Amino acid sequence: MTQAVILAGGKGTRLAERLLGKPKPLIEIDGEPLLGRQIRSLTANGVEHVVVLVNHRADLIEDFIRSNAADIRITVLDDGPHPLGTAGAMLKVLDHLQDQFLVVYGDTLFDIDIAHMLEAHRASGADATLLLHPNDHPADSDLVEVDANGWIRAFHGYPHATDAVIGNLVNAAMYVCDRSALLPWAGGETLVDLAKDLFPAMLRSGARLKAYRSYEYIKDAGTPKRVDKIEHHLRSGVVGRASRRSRQRAVFMDRDGTLNKLKGYIVHPSQITLLPGVADAVRLLNDAEYRLVVVTNQPVIARGDCDLATLASIHDRLTYELGKSGAYLDEIRFCPHHPDSGYAGEVSNLKCVCSCRKPSDGMLLSAAEDMNIDLRQSWMIGDSSVDIKCGSVAGVTTVLVLTGEAGLDGRVVCDPDFVVTDMAAAAKLVAEVAPKLEAELLDLLAGAPLQRVNISDGSSDDRRIFSALLNRLRARVGVDPHDATGIRVQPSAEVLAASASGWADKVRRLLS
Ligand SMILES: [Zn+2]
Repeated sequence: MTQAVILAGGKGTRLAERLLGKPKPLIEIDGEPLLGRQIRSLTANGVEHVVVLVNHRADLIEDFIRSNAADIRITVLDDGPHPLGTAGAMLKVLDHLQDQFLVVYGDTLFDIDIAHMLEAHRASGADATLLLHPNDHPADSDLVEVDANGWIRAFHGYPHATDAVIGNLVNAAMYVCDRSALLPWAGGETLVDLAKDLFPAMLRSGARLKAYRSYEYIKDAGTPKRVDKIEHHLRSGVVGRASRRSRQRAVFMDRDGTLNKLKGYIVHPSQITLLPGVADAVRLLNDAEYRLVVVTNQPVIARGDCDLATLASIHDRLTYELGKSGAYLDEIRFCPHHPDSGYAGEVSNLKCVCSCRKPSDGMLLSAAEDMNIDLRQSWMIGDSSVDIKCGSVAGVTTVLVLTGEAGLDGRVVCDPDFVVTDMAAAAKLVAEVAPKLEAELLDLLAGAPLQRVNISDGSSDDRRIFSALLNRLRARVGVDPHDATGIRVQPSAEVLAASASGWADKVRRLLS
């Protein structure tokens, strides 16, 4: 049985004007108390028993639960008479909890695939698993440092030292805990807060805490401003579209020469310098609800020029630099392999031909599998021929940027769908220009069957661009949750001859 604990003891001082005497978990979100939304979401995700830990105005929460029949077992526990904090409250009721349980805070709106998170927890054998995500304000968030294998190394509570370079990975306030790992801490008076006190203490004493990275929606409703924001996200469909149930659209991006300056092999964090305009470009793609996945070949690992800990620091530097501008990456994936042996200090078991090293498309395929990404609705942006090739093989739309190698590396044949100056132009293409052109193309085809469009004329650039856009439309038919209108075409045997002439110019005009 899956059990979830809701920490519902919060008073909600900062929400007083909206609560009018009610406790924080009963804050109305788009006309429904948050606690009701949480219980529904947990039920929909397979939770069978909810334990609600109450304190402030426990009577009102009990009334709410009694009067709102839920299709689930609910137990209310009062940790009173005095507030104990999130850790104190949970440690006090451990006797009522089962061997493994989920913990959520009473002030968060979420739509999380809980079974998937539980599975990850069990597979790792961790004492506790914490849901982490990057956000658009890491400088004033509690950050978590994670090693290359996803084990938590350190907690960095806000405020941070001004010169501290910490990766953009934030505790999102949802955990899976093993009761046996918490039992030794029960009865401790000093552990008040789960995130600030208990987990750091567990880590110091050798507990194994695992990161669970997720792009799914989870945000807190702690202030009136945040309540307004999550209501907006709920109404506009952002919450549902970020669910693992929904097919995701991704922008895969190369690292060196695309996001940061090309400086030979990068083996130290100080060598990371963002190219001009990159942070704003990444933020534009964040706002367009794309999942952003960096895919990078790192043969320096196989050669022994850089170890995994250093690579993690290099990536911390990258996400830190982006975070200063409110931009973030959902994931960074790297290939540590290299096919040729014969380097002093090399790591022999990484010297192999693999399926992840670009131009192979292994990193894109595994990310698509893990993150429920629709490759045909996705993009690959890079500066080298191997980036373009791996994107084409995976079936995503490809964009060559003229920074870094500018496609002149000559390693494989390079035949990109689009060629633009830099990341800023690439992001504008993906987030603004392509959607406009896809709409225009859809109008032009006027309901013709998309599978039966033949391109009649145009230059080779025109035809490539027209055909890439047409393929994107074909992939959207009836399946895209991001598409409000939906594309429905009439079945017909007729073939439509369409001219691609002028489409490369259209792109140039819209990008300028
Ligand atoms: Zn590899």
